[in-house]
Order: sequence, then structure tokens, then C-alpha cells
Amino acid sequence: MNKTRLGINEYLFTALIFAAAIWGPVPMFGLILYAAVVEKSEIINAGSKTALLIKVGALLLQSFLNFIEYVVRTFATDAYDFYSVMSRIDYLIEAAVLCAMIVFVIINAAKGFAKKTEVRYINPQPQPEAQPAAPQAQSAANAAPKAQEQTQTVQPGTTVCPQCKKAVAIGTTFCAGCGYKLQ
Ligand SMILES: [Zn+2]
Repeated sequence: MNKTRLGINEYLFTALIFAAAIWGPVPMFGLILYAAVVEKSEIINAGSKTALLIKVGALLLQSFLNFIEYVVRTFATDAYDFYSVMSRIDYLIEAAVLCAMIVFVIINAAKGFAKKTEVRYINPQPQPEAQPAAPQAQSAANAAPKAQEQTQTVQPGTTVCPQCKKAVAIGTTFCAGCGYKLQ
């Protein structure tokens, strides 16, 4: 589920295309063209195809029926029953297209709002914060051996007390730090 540049998600944008198709072919083609060039979303493109198929299909069917009607008008000027039926078919196609667009507006709007709430539940997962702790633990582990190395560094002529790890001059009987008996 991606957001479009208009701030609404892909399904709500698709619902907008079907709503525009009800308004008229120019707003519909405008939105479809915008989405195809700018948004490049598979969900919107699939919706665009459906809207185009319905709209263009209905236009072709209406054009074909109009052509038949004009031919009949040319040769049979008094076929009024035929003209009446043809104009009813024309209205029926308009109504069917309108119903289809409304159904698609509802379906996509429902999906759009459903996905929106889903995203809200997914967002507050604090998982990625666990990772930055690991490098800190590593640096702490690296620091520990360094500290040990420093205390174990023996100066010439000295030794290290086995109890308190302090440098003690060779030959001394007791450690100056803790009093441990060295010899
Ligand atoms: Zn000592």
C-alpha cells in the first residue's frame, strides 16, 4: 500500500478515477494520464484499465448503434418505434456505465480506507531499535582486553603481583599494594 503524491493511497486514487469517469471523460482521462506518468502504480493502472474498458466500450457500442440509427433514418424516415427503442438502449447503456462506475468507486474507497487502518497498526513496531545496541556491546568487549593488557604491561626490572596486578620491583618480598607475599 503506497501513498500517491496527492497524499491519498492508491485505492482511494483509483476510486477518484471512477468518480471522475461519472463526472465526464475529460477528468477521467486527465487523472489516468497523470497516474500513468507520475504515480506508476500497478493498482491505479489496473483501475485505469477497467475504467477505460467500460468507458471506451460503451462509447464504441453507442457509436455503432448511432450509426445504425442514422442509416435507418436515411432510408426509413417514419420508423419512429425503431428510433424510440434505439434511444432507450442508449439510456440503458448510460445507466449501466454509471452503475459500474459507482460500484467501482465504492469497492476502491472501501479498500482504500481498510488499508489505511491496517497501516496504522503496522507502523508502531519498535523492532529496528534493537540493532544499534550490538556495536556498543562490541566496543565494550574490545575495551576490556585493552585494560587487561595495560595492567599486565611489565616495566623492566619489575614483576606483577598475582593478587592485585600491580607492578612490583623484582626482589621485593611483599607487594606494596596489597601486602601479598611474593617469594
Ligand atoms: Zn599486590
